[in-house]
Amino acid sequence: MYDVNEIRRDFPILSREVNGRPLVYFDNGASAQKPRAVIDAITHSYCQEYSNVHRGLHFLSNLMTDRYEAVRGKIGRFLNAAHENEIVMNSGTTEGINMVAYGWAMPRMEAGDEIILTVMEHHANIVPWHFLRERLGVRLVWIDIDDDGHLDPQRVLDAITPRTRLIAVSHVSNVLGTRVDVKAISEGARARGVPVLVDGSQAAMHMRVDVRDIGCDFYTITGHKLYGPSGSGAIYCRSERMAEMSPFLGGGIMIKEVHKDRISWNDPPLKFEAGTPPIVQMIGLGVAIEYLDTLGMAAIERHETALRDYAVSRFGDVERLRLQGTTSDKAGIFSFTLEGAAHAHDISTVLDKKGVAVRAGHHCAGPLMERLGLTATCRASFGLYNTMDEIDVMIEALELAQDLFG
Ligand code: PMP
Repeated sequence: MYDVNEIRRDFPILSREVNGRPLVYFDNGASAQKPRAVIDAITHSYCQEYSNVHRGLHFLSNLMTDRYEAVRGKIGRFLNAAHENEIVMNSGTTEGINMVAYGWAMPRMEAGDEIILTVMEHHANIVPWHFLRERLGVRLVWIDIDDDGHLDPQRVLDAITPRTRLIAVSHVSNVLGTRVDVKAISEGARARGVPVLVDGSQAAMHMRVDVRDIGCDFYTITGHKLYGPSGSGAIYCRSERMAEMSPFLGGGIMIKEVHKDRISWNDPPLKFEAGTPPIVQMIGLGVAIEYLDTLGMAAIERHETALRDYAVSRFGDVERLRLQGTTSDKAGIFSFTLEGAAHAHDISTVLDKKGVAVRAGHHCAGPLMERLGLTATCRASFGLYNTMDEIDVMIEALELAQDLFG
């Protein structure tokens, strides 16, 4: 039984006030709050167990290494990877996509090769590919969305040519909440020999992810959106792709032997984890994943779907509110503007006065903003601890904003 009031007590920050009002935290798309179990695990690691990993022979170093390496298995199971060695631990999606761009794509692409992207991507899944465009002359092929935010997988597959080397696509849009059928894209692409990278930053917190069922080649997750610490994350790399990939960052741990005139690499995945990793952050992420497993991703998804449906009905009460992204199966991520009214920043300031935290701006999605013909929106993004009462508080504040700026 999913008892949201009970669950809220696990998150210390949710009992604080902002501007004299109970905090309503709807900025989960930017970063989610942390349960006490994660905070306690971080404190315990530093107070009782801390040391560097993979280097020492002493008690604490072995203990920390075991704790750190155990997280790889937890992430592997969370994503249903075939083997935990298909998981590279890192600082998050930005690092994961850059690793693929530099380590896998750059050595095997040349001028005229093509990378397929959608107009909905976050800058983290755009800028590294621009590096390849600028430096190698790779062509970026952009797939449009429908006006409601839907992405037709067939449109992506139809864009494949003999020069296509990669498809890089978000599982869930951080602006529109659109769920993308990455399974259909991966199946179609695989049949034509084209690898697929899925940016799962916004998906893994809302739904059960199964990388083997999806059939993608790379899948990135971000720890701080999964109720874990910032600076933690991972990327799933199908073992064939992992074997093809060159190291991205060089340094300690990722080598086997270093001589003056020759060098050999450690085995994957350590080959891709240079230097001291985010040790305690990853341990915190492991605890966050255990927390999500205990609640159950299916139960979280059911709760958030009810929130989404309630929000859709309540947004309708705000006369001049315009929602961007209206697909019926979207995640609980809502971007909106108030027609003829204030800038998104002003709306978010009014909401903030009522204790409601939303994001306002371009959401690191320049091409999507161009597609929508907007410079900014407000975004309310729901997490596992949000409630319908909180949605009511936001709607009341939006009605106030409408009156103020009308
Ligand atoms: N992709 C998407 C869809 C995102 O929403 C974000 C975070 N806003 C990122 C990538 C970047 O992730 P990270 O914070 O792990 O670098």
